Amino acid sequence: MEKIFYAFGTVNYIQIEDEISEDKMDGIIKTALALDDQLSVFKPDSEIAKINNNAGVKSVKVSPNIITILKQACYYSEISQGAFDITIKPAVQLWNVGHKEQRIPTEVELDALKSWVDYQSIVIDEIENTVYLKKSGQAIDLGGIAKGYAQDLIKEKLVNAGVTSGILNFGGSIMTIGKKKNGAVWRVGIQDPLNKRGKSVGTIGLKDESLVTSAVNERFFKKDGVTYHHILDPHTLRPAQSGVLSVTATGGSAMELDALTTALFVLGMKKGIDLANQMGIDALYLLQNGEMYATNGFVSRDFILQTNNKNSGRIVG
Ligand code: AMP
Ligand code: MG
Repeated sequence: MEKIFYAFGTVNYIQIEDEISEDKMDGIIKTALALDDQLSVFKPDSEIAKINNNAGVKSVKVSPNIITILKQACYYSEISQGAFDITIKPAVQLWNVGHKEQRIPTEVELDALKSWVDYQSIVIDEIENTVYLKKSGQAIDLGGIAKGYAQDLIKEKLVNAGVTSGILNFGGSIMTIGKKKNGAVWRVGIQDPLNKRGKSVGTIGLKDESLVTSAVNERFFKKDGVTYHHILDPHTLRPAQSGVLSVTATGGSAMELDALTTALFVLGMKKGIDLANQMGIDALYLLQNGEMYATNGFVSRDFILQTNNKNSGRIVG
């Protein structure tokens, strides 16, 4: 059974190899759409928009799953020393990468936002189920973690519905359920950041695991020969200049990988590999200098390199 639906700003695809009723599948997709309504920063009625609109004013009652995501987001901020920070929203909005209004902000404009980008001023009350942003002007953006959260939840629902074999592709983020029915692993491509969508640098075999990438080529614009992409360094409020083209990670939780790949991108390869090891996830870095680094665990997942691209020259480490 195959399903395609639009949510989280992207096209989402579910393929399962077991039979479940259309009703059940439709119910699961409805859950994903409801989640999109809750989490989107673009929808004016979303719970996240309400939190943002009341920054510096008052706390906002939210659903328990929002509390879960925000707590997780803050945890990934802590362990990445602020490389992942959902309060990056005012800066994301100023750059507007990928939108009609995209432009390079001035130093003065960026300086004005500095005190707002600070995950430590997200106040979460788990008893009352409320969230409060301390400073007026602050805003949160779950673009770096929401899709992963949704994937974990949808996988859980499919498994509970009896699915033992399947693959979810949410805008390039992959989650697999079990193996294929014929016993083979799910073989998925890793996007080549220097090539057209769908062109991969290699493939990897996955069973019951997720694969997530953060990359410059997902959203960017060019001005005077310089590429400005959508992953911002919360410490500079500028596109992270960490020498990375893309970072891909594998592991059990899509949400963890979603947050971590964003953080690993910002941190760059050296600090990023340390964090990946610390968190027990496997990663592949493709660097601007043409080098590639894969952790042993990444390679052991039957990673097969394509030979016809610039970044395939070397595996370092
Ligand atoms: P991803 O594609 O998962 O790496 O997420 C990138 C998206 O997350 C961007 O389009 C922004 O909406 C948001 N974002 C950008 N930089 C950061 C950051 N340092 N921490 C958290 N979210 C970010
Ligand atoms: Mg992410």
